[in-house]
Amino acid sequence: MSTPTPHLRSIATVSLSGSLAEKLEAAAVIGFDGVEIFENDLLTFDGSPADVRRIAEDLGLAITIFQPFRDFEAMPEPQRRRNLDRAERKFDVMQALGTDLVLVCSSIHPATLDDPARAAADLAEMAERAGARGLRVGYEALAWGRHTSRWRQAWDIVQRAGHPALGLIVDSFHTLCLDDDFAGLADLPGERIFFVQLADGPRLSMDPLSWSRHFRNLPGQGQLDVAGFLRATLASGYQGPLSLEIFNDDFRAAPARLTARDGLRSLILVEAEAGAATLPPPPRFDGVEFLEFAVDAEARARLCAFLASLGFRHAGSHRSKDVELWRQGRINLVLNAEPDSAASEHFQLHGASVCAMALRVDDAGAALTRANALLSPPWQERIGSGERQIPAVRVPDGTLIYLIGPDPSGRTIWEDDFDLIPADADDALTSIDHIAQSLPTGRMDGFVLFYRAIFGFEPAQVWEIPDPYGLIRSRAMLSPDGTIRLPLNISESRETATGRFVSAYSGAGVHHIALATGDIHCAVDAMLARGGTLLPIPENYYDDLAARHGLDDATLEALRARNLLYDRDEHGEFIHAYTEAFDDRFFCEIVERRGYQGFGAVNATVRLAVQAQRREARRGVARMASM
Ligand code: MG
Ligand code: MG
Repeated sequence: MSTPTPHLRSIATVSLSGSLAEKLEAAAVIGFDGVEIFENDLLTFDGSPADVRRIAEDLGLAITIFQPFRDFEAMPEPQRRRNLDRAERKFDVMQALGTDLVLVCSSIHPATLDDPARAAADLAEMAERAGARGLRVGYEALAWGRHTSRWRQAWDIVQRAGHPALGLIVDSFHTLCLDDDFAGLADLPGERIFFVQLADGPRLSMDPLSWSRHFRNLPGQGQLDVAGFLRATLASGYQGPLSLEIFNDDFRAAPARLTARDGLRSLILVEAEAGAATLPPPPRFDGVEFLEFAVDAEARARLCAFLASLGFRHAGSHRSKDVELWRQGRINLVLNAEPDSAASEHFQLHGASVCAMALRVDDAGAALTRANALLSPPWQERIGSGERQIPAVRVPDGTLIYLIGPDPSGRTIWEDDFDLIPADADDALTSIDHIAQSLPTGRMDGFVLFYRAIFGFEPAQVWEIPDPYGLIRSRAMLSPDGTIRLPLNISESRETATGRFVSAYSGAGVHHIALATGDIHCAVDAMLARGGTLLPIPENYYDDLAARHGLDDATLEALRARNLLYDRDEHGEFIHAYTEAFDDRFFCEIVERRGYQGFGAVNATVRLAVQAQRREARRGVARMASM
């Protein structure tokens, strides 16, 4: 069987921010083969179409299409005649640009006639004129087109026109936002499809035009079946470019290269999902092996005291680096104060905080190959002789993710690199339940794509959590086996806990670590006995809790006495508590799951309110002190 030629990978300039020159540069640097030139980008460009052609050629970019040509077909005279003149002028531009294809989207003009035969005749005439110049015309059904809104209608018009220079253009968003059936695309002759545009989107109930203009996102970021659409389209035998056409408020504000990298990653992923390319499968996961904190000697002393109050003990020291292992149950925390390391760089930028996490996988090598193919190259930390090289990738915020596979030697990384201090302890906390991260504004979709593409994690439902100073959106990424849970939080407001975290922290990062226990009452009592403190929960919370869940007095009192929070879903109960924040950077959560699947989002509101009050109180004290 011969391998099919790979499809040209293209992105529409409208999807990227910046000047046209910046857009082209970003697309080329990241590795796209071509770009769609959006007419508006040309209008605002300070130069001629021939200049654009030269820049693109120098960058090695093909101009895959010129778009859009609007309100062309089935117009009454005199617009019909004028439209044909307009087409000739666009053909001039295309020839100067060096592209042979123009996208005509179905007319939305109120004067458009409901007459497919006329539409076909007009497009045939346009194609005749284009063909005379060696150019081609592609016709696309806009979901909100006046009389043509579905790909079958557009295909019917293309067939009626019967001109070799006229073909069909399909766009996943226009098809999927109408819930239109895409299976039939597989039966079309592939050479009659001139161009394929791809976009995803969240499932929203709003008019397709606003939905499309503001909420489109990259394949793999939304909830539409873009892979199914692409599979059907490719089954037709289509050989042309695959092009991303995204309109999105976040993309307009994000750096072009960031969007371009996410874009190419999404295209590689959706091609693989549609069976057009191969990727190694994502690894199988088995929980978190360790979390690594960047510290210096001073922060380490305080962090050790904080961890000791939670029941952690010093369990080992690195043989060649200034790195300590703290341990409890299956939870390993690494405190890295080694100068001149990735951790020290992280500490300089962000203060004492999580700089890396390590995930247990079945095959680290295959996982790295997949990550690399999806534009996340391996990261290598300097190691001493005889130490294990642990493969790692970097999350878009710079946090490292180590991948720990079984070693052929049968030895653990701890045995390899650490002098371990034996202990037998009765550990109350057993494993890491979840690791919550705060993301910069506009980056939720990028992180969702990263975890989905590289690791095959699945996004859970979106929660909107009211903070006293704004709204926080939260969405957890879950490993398929359920052992790794990473809630991602984002906020538009700089005043919410998430917003403040991101600005104070110069970027994203881990903002709380939830530790699982089999008996939270015992775990908390032991912690309090060691001098630890929990975030105090207001009395009103417990009054409300009693009313909502009908808890008996003894249960309620046990919760109230320990500042425990409670939630319940159809799977079971959840009891949890929060520590005070460490350096205003992160805090720990202690959780007992009794089958419950969520993250206690209803209680996060209470936590956010208490944390905000305490921040305000501390500010007040600081003001008094400075008076
Ligand atoms: Mg389109
Ligand atoms: Mg939590």
